[in-house]
Amino acid sequence: MNKITIAIDGFSSTGKSTVAKQLAKALGYVYVDTGAMYRAVTFYTMQNGLISKDDFNSEALIYQLPNINISFKFNESLGFAEVYLNDVNIEKQIRTLEVSSYVSKVAAISEVRLKLVEQQQKLGQNKGVVMDGRDIGTVVFPEAELKLFMTASAKTRAERRFQELIERGDKVEYKDVLKNVEERDYIDSNREDSPLVKAKDAIEIDNSHMTLDEQFNKILQLAKMTIEDLE
Ligand code: C5P
Repeated sequence: MNKITIAIDGFSSTGKSTVAKQLAKALGYVYVDTGAMYRAVTFYTMQNGLISKDDFNSEALIYQLPNINISFKFNESLGFAEVYLNDVNIEKQIRTLEVSSYVSKVAAISEVRLKLVEQQQKLGQNKGVVMDGRDIGTVVFPEAELKLFMTASAKTRAERRFQELIERGDKVEYKDVLKNVEERDYIDSNREDSPLVKAKDAIEIDNSHMTLDEQFNKILQLAKMTIEDLE
């Protein structure tokens, strides 16, 4: 069977990674969470005191980029690959609201994007990959056979993210989560380098009123149809 590249882009907390993981499992594909890579660079930036509420030393970050090594290791019990920064598992640390509040600033730096896009292209070079992010169908794999663009209202997305954070035991307020979702939408869509836009040939999926099963079945069918069309 032909293997394809599946690019899933869209706004924050639209459930891209949930469906990408389900899809990769069903098809026996590799799943790459590119948001985790930007979050890992952000975590490094925070750990090294290069970013705070009022300051971001982007020049120092650019200078230190060669010291940043991001990798993934598959965790059998979780069923997906966890992200490592310089061989340390940071999967949990990168999901906090604090990392979310800085990540779009770090992701707007062209040198950061250049480094991560190159690694993403290597990870997907043999096809058989589901990759989610903001620029996968437009920049990383413009030739992807199947491109999806996920949307949902900001409120729906903030509610989902709020539940996730609360379930993890994080002490956050809904209004701060909503503010973060809206801020990231704005920065991600308005940055100069690789802004979040729907690729012309992407299929838009608004999942505001879809259950996870409905969404998964619809997308799996699209993937199967795309694969069959190539046979
Ligand atoms: O997908 P996730 O919400 O974890 O992504 C975190 C942030 O990383 C996004 O808000 C965006 O700023 C950045 N990102 C990006 N390009 C990607 C993936 C994520 O700019 N391909």
